[in-house]
Amino acid sequence: MGMRKPKSREFKYDIMAVGAHPDDVEHGIGGSLIQWRKMGMKIVILHMTGGEMGTHGSKGTRRKEALAAAKTLKCDVDFLGLKDTEVRFTIETRNKFIRAVRKHRPRVIVAQYHDYPRMHPDHEQTGLIVKNAFRPCRFAQIKTPPHAPHWVENIYWHLFPFDMKPSFVVDVTDVMPAWEKVAACYESQLDSIPNYRERLMRFRRLAGAHIGVPYGEAFLCDVPLNATGVDITRFSPDPDYKEEERARGSERSPQRRRDR
Ligand SMILES: [Zn+2]
Repeated sequence: MGMRKPKSREFKYDIMAVGAHPDDVEHGIGGSLIQWRKMGMKIVILHMTGGEMGTHGSKGTRRKEALAAAKTLKCDVDFLGLKDTEVRFTIETRNKFIRAVRKHRPRVIVAQYHDYPRMHPDHEQTGLIVKNAFRPCRFAQIKTPPHAPHWVENIYWHLFPFDMKPSFVVDVTDVMPAWEKVAACYESQLDSIPNYRERLMRFRRLAGAHIGVPYGEAFLCDVPLNATGVDITRFSPDPDYKEEERARGSERSPQRRRDR
């Protein structure tokens, strides 16, 4: 039996989480990845570079850390192999990225925003590559054998300027201890960069404030979400909720959360 060509809307993953350097995704939106894994979503993390030009940690160390973080998150992981500090949007890097998307076939891509000059230039360029690959991924005339064209449904941006209003925020308060474990996989970065840990927490407090919870992770999308089937009546957590749950003396399950 020959290998069957996948249809352009056949998915292998729910989410492809893209970051320029190993740790960008896990430190930036690791809590959301944990929440989405709890919902049963399949996730692949794509690191554009090996982080080899970082001030702290060798390429080997950072690769090992990336593998450990993915394992802790129960996500798959891949490396695009671009050069750290030299990520640039070109047709060549776009096509390289298209190849990776077609190989992994995600429903949606989550990536660093393409316009945030205060950040590492690799982050913006990563966003530009993703933005420019989104539609051409479908084009049959761009050949990436053996991988067939693929339709990505949407892009959700993370790591965007504070004065931009998020399109949605994921409450990560309950998974902060689990996130700490994931974040700690990147020992070479977490406590070597001055104020880094505090900065990660500041981002989460700010995002959380948008939805009235202690810690959140914020996302931006260019087009509205299709909210059919989503419970749009729930905004902030019911303050009595945790008390009620404690009184019931049982563990939270996603089902109960939906039913309350
Ligand atoms: Zn980075």
